[in-house]
Amino acid sequence: MSESASPVKFRPEEIPAELGGLRMTKQRKEVYCLLMDQRDHPTAQDVFIRAKERMPNISLATVYNCLEALVNHELVRQVNFDRAPSRYCPNLEEHVHFQDLETGAIHDVVFKKGININDFLELPEGVEVRELELTLKGIMPSSTKKN
Ligand SMILES: [Zn+2]
Repeated sequence: MSESASPVKFRPEEIPAELGGLRMTKQRKEVYCLLMDQRDHPTAQDVFIRAKERMPNISLATVYNCLEALVNHELVRQVNFDRAPSRYCPNLEEHVHFQDLETGAIHDVVFKKGININDFLELPEGVEVRELELTLKGIMPSSTKKN
């Protein structure tokens, strides 16, 4: 259960001109790197605030457009929790989300090796699962220690 920033810093200048069929404009590269670098499932507003540090003139609308393009090309995932604003997750591996009720932080959780969703759900015979969206809510031990 880890969502700490990856040790490798993603640099926009190292992102290819095209990724997954999407032409990577300067803004898309920046937004993509922000998501890859800080994997805390930010909202569009969070991304906007971070993007402004490097591109002071970027608009929220541009950030939304970049995010939409990245989601449409399956480079990042759009995740919705309750009725809160969408968040963005660059982790394309199959995983579920754990929301810490104490801090609001969202962590990626992967399945134990060899476990298949069919092993623990009574799915109707022949069902083909194409998408998985599962959110667990609870308290991380690390957040209770702080109090
Ligand atoms: Zn995630």
